[in-house]
Amino acid sequence: GNKLRLAIIGSGNWGSAIARIAGRNMIRHSDTFHPEVRMYVHEESINGQKLTEIINAKHENVKYLPGIPIPENVVAVPSATAAAQDADLLIFVTPHQFIASICSELKGKIKPSTQALSMIKGVEVKDGNINIFADVIEKLLGCKCSALSGANIANEVAQDKFSETTIGYRPGEHEKAELWFKVFDTPFFRVGLVEDVAGVSLCGALKNVVAIAAGFTDGLGWGDNAKAAVMRIGLMEMKSFCEEFFEGVKAETFTETSAGIADLITTCFGGRNRKCAEAFVKTGKSFPVLEKELLNGQRLQGVETAREVYTFLEARGRQQGYPLFTAVHQISSGDYKPSEMTSHL
Ligand code: NAD
Ligand code: 13P
Repeated sequence: GNKLRLAIIGSGNWGSAIARIAGRNMIRHSDTFHPEVRMYVHEESINGQKLTEIINAKHENVKYLPGIPIPENVVAVPSATAAAQDADLLIFVTPHQFIASICSELKGKIKPSTQALSMIKGVEVKDGNINIFADVIEKLLGCKCSALSGANIANEVAQDKFSETTIGYRPGEHEKAELWFKVFDTPFFRVGLVEDVAGVSLCGALKNVVAIAAGFTDGLGWGDNAKAAVMRIGLMEMKSFCEEFFEGVKAETFTETSAGIADLITTCFGGRNRKCAEAFVKTGKSFPVLEKELLNGQRLQGVETAREVYTFLEARGRQQGYPLFTAVHQISSGDYKPSEMTSHL
């Protein structure tokens, strides 16, 4: 029939949580959607057994989202092409560093009518230019791409604890957004829609940089006032950055959506970026070491995003306009001491 097929590219902590939500919604809205969801899993071996085989037998991602059942209509496949080739709706949810290679594999192999959606929190900086991943995916694959971002710590969403999220859609594409709404919305995971793909994407990427700064203040024992100050300054820099370098980003995306202020708050209190940044101050270990020791294969996005944003700003001689973003990069790369952070603001 002409029921829409969904595929998910990515199966980490967030990818697996979203497979649970979207998988259940395929059944709930069986008038619209094909029940089977293919999920691309970057293959690895766990105690001698393939992760795809474990997921398909136990219906659980034992490495990246242990203890949470994944619906049986979600099928793990070790090839991105095999997952995506028949899809009408295609979700991208891998750490940002893997998108370019996955898209080059998928190029020319997906249906021309496929609609994509990016849940990636990061930016691509290349040849002095900055791009959101929804645009990178549109360009590399030639399909339309929306964005979803919000205050969504994966482990909480996976336990059906209440949260909200935001879908950013392109001008004039409200109908597509309503289809994506049906993929994700549940009574515990409430979806808001905003005509602002760039704003939603950039909030998701840049708040990770602010979360590193918030983790530094935690590590330094500076208290709640200092952390609130860093978050306020961070939000201002996020907003200025979008106004200076991107057209059409809406002010209300920062102040009124889950992707904006709400995600900044949750990530600065409960996220992995915060956690590793606190440990960076307390242990003196580098971020790559801490990522390995603390995250069991999950990936930090904020340190790399801080470096990418710094590279972009430096190429324009605009670092001084963004002292918090700049300090996060200088501290995480070892050029400044964490205790010097506020002296640069
Ligand atoms: P993750 O941090 O759990 O990363 C691990 C994943 O990366 C695993 O699926 C692993 O197989 C995969 N991987 C490792 N090497 C790979 C390779 N060479 N090629 C392809 N894949 C490879 O991932 P996540 O938490 O699902 O995050 C994905 C995106 O979603 C990120 O941009 C993140 O910022 C964002 N996000 C995460 C959360 C969260 O709470 N975890 C919430 C919202 C958004
Ligand atoms: P971390 O990557 O810092 O865990 O943030 C998760 C997130 O994006 C929550 O919305």
